[in-house]
Amino acid sequence: MGVRERRAVIVGGGIAGLASGAALLRQGWAVTVLEQAGPVTEVGAGISITANGLSALATLGLDAATRNAGHRLRMAGTMDQSGTWLMRIPRSSSGKVPQEV
Ligand SMILES: Cc1cc2nc3c(=O)[nH]c(=O)nc-3n(C[C@H](O)[C@H](O)[C@H](O)COP(=O)(O)OP(=O)(O)OC[C@H]3O[C@@H](n4cnc5c(N)ncnc54)[C@H](O)[C@@H]3O)c2cc1C
Repeated sequence: MGVRERRAVIVGGGIAGLASGAALLRQGWAVTVLEQAGPVTEVGAGISITANGLSALATLGLDAATRNAGHRLRMAGTMDQSGTWLMRIPRSSSGKVPQEV
């Protein structure tokens, strides 16, 4: 008797659905992801991925591809509508120096 194939159907091809699908694929499951929207295209938006997110991507074997597709942030923060910084986080060697301006 052969090994029964484990199959999963995931509804939603967002971050959670695709990450779940990638994780199950790595475990040998046959995965189908159902997405109601049309094909993925560039929409002019970006997403910031923090250290815990990169760690999760590494677990899925996707960190190198993500790093290659993205850019390392040197600084991030929040401005008000006049362009005045409300909060800035400069990148440091420790990566742990939030600085309020
Ligand atoms: C403006 C904005 C900026 C953001 N910036 C960041 C950021 O920089 N960094 C960060 O970590 N997070 C960011 N987030 C949050 C991040 O986008 C969400 O946490 C993440 O996308 C959630 O993923 P998800 O898979 O849970 O849900 P979703 O991304 O909402 O995915 C759900 C998917 O399921 C599909 N779906 C729903 N119902 C059905 C159905 N019945 N059949 C088939 N498909 C279905 C939807 O079309 C959708 O594609 C941002 C969010 C917004 C709105």
